Amino acid sequence: MDLTKLTIRQCHEGLKKGDFTSVDLTKAFLEKIKKNNKELNAYLLVDEAGALAQAEEADKKIESKDFGILCGVPCAIKDAIMVKDQKCTAGSKILENYVAPYDATVIEKLKKEGAVILGKTNLDEFTMGGSGENSAFGPTKNPHDKTRVSGGSSSGSAAAVASEMAVYTLGSDTGGSIRQPASFCGIVGLCPTYGSVSRYGLIAHGSSLDQIGSMTKSVEDAKIVFEAISGKDLKDATSVDYKFKESEVDLKGLKIGVPKEYFAKGIEPEVEKIVRDAIKKAEKLGAKIIEISLPSTEYALASYYIIGPSEISANLARFDGIKYGLSEPGKDLLDVYLKSKGHGFGAEVKRRIMIGTYCLSSGYYDAYYKKAQEVRQLIKQDFEKAFEKVDLIFTPVSPFPAFKIGEKADDPIAMYLADIYTIPMKLAGLPGLSLPVGKVGKLPVGLQIIGNHFQENKILSVAEQIEKT
Ligand code: GLN
Repeated sequence: MDLTKLTIRQCHEGLKKGDFTSVDLTKAFLEKIKKNNKELNAYLLVDEAGALAQAEEADKKIESKDFGILCGVPCAIKDAIMVKDQKCTAGSKILENYVAPYDATVIEKLKKEGAVILGKTNLDEFTMGGSGENSAFGPTKNPHDKTRVSGGSSSGSAAAVASEMAVYTLGSDTGGSIRQPASFCGIVGLCPTYGSVSRYGLIAHGSSLDQIGSMTKSVEDAKIVFEAISGKDLKDATSVDYKFKESEVDLKGLKIGVPKEYFAKGIEPEVEKIVRDAIKKAEKLGAKIIEISLPSTEYALASYYIIGPSEISANLARFDGIKYGLSEPGKDLLDVYLKSKGHGFGAEVKRRIMIGTYCLSSGYYDAYYKKAQEVRQLIKQDFEKAFEKVDLIFTPVSPFPAFKIGEKADDPIAMYLADIYTIPMKLAGLPGLSLPVGKVGKLPVGLQIIGNHFQENKILSVAEQIEKT
């Protein structure tokens, strides 16, 4: 049996029955990583000794019969989430040698469950990007076609699951970073409601948008991980007291909205066909499909690419060559700042810091930042109105499947435009899931299922029923 093919549930069943141990599982994954990672570049760090020690601990728990579903199951973590005593680079040269002094809350929770952490996965620098190419440590290749990107920013987390180098991974999503790479790699990516999972220990990109979520082989696994990591955390003031509870939602009569703005010019016809076919499947299962309008969609990117960078310019001020990471010697303090940031940050990060600083500066604040926040309200209202009429919204995740490495790397605007379907709901803090529903050639295509706040149950239950057809 190839242990690396198993889902969380299957691992759990096997561990329970004694078909294999957590050490067996962990070794199988370490082996696979050794074989595949050089080419794919999904992992930035593999903690062989640490993972095997955790697996041994898990096996003891399993022997005592007192263990939960994640116990002994090997996973990997996006390298923007802190795992104590391990390097946390955020895909940046500026944090190349930075070692995390504490566990993120999600890691604390996974460790309590007895998870085995194989290592840290590649990403766009500081989670800024949609292809993985902004990583200071090289792009991650798409396991389905190695000449193509694996999506971003959770590039390594998606590729690791798709290439069976981890059972599941954690990613983070600010404007699509879980859902888009999940779609490009043909796996399930869940970006939960803003506030449902603690952000404590996640290196910040845009704090009003950032959210940690799971990347898994199946919808059932997404449920399992979400249940384990969600909940109120006193260390993150934006986290809320909400515990996910699973129950089956009847698709019969369920109203599914399909926004007409999401099928406008620009979407690849083959992608549109696959997504529309998936919508038809839901209809066959009894759902009622209703065309809706989200009229402010066209302003979402402009709003996001002002709000995001504004928050970035504040959040990244701390990387100054003094407090964290890279510090270059200079003739005075300003020189240290200039050299450390100048050499430490990549082009995309610098671009966003400059845009954000400009948008927040006196004289421009009202024209840009405030306007963008007003637009954000309009987008929220669009979704509020839509959810008065429908239970869920179905859309594509991306207008096209995974593109060639280098294809958009020199064109930031083309890269930003690719986020058109994943950003609007994020500005409204809504949950969304990417479900693999077909392929263009060998390239996977995802369906995005968006729910109202804290409606993960509806999303997951419906996704599972479509997954099974
Ligand atoms: N592609 C988007 C960006 O570059 C989303 C990134 C993310 O969700 N972290 O901002």
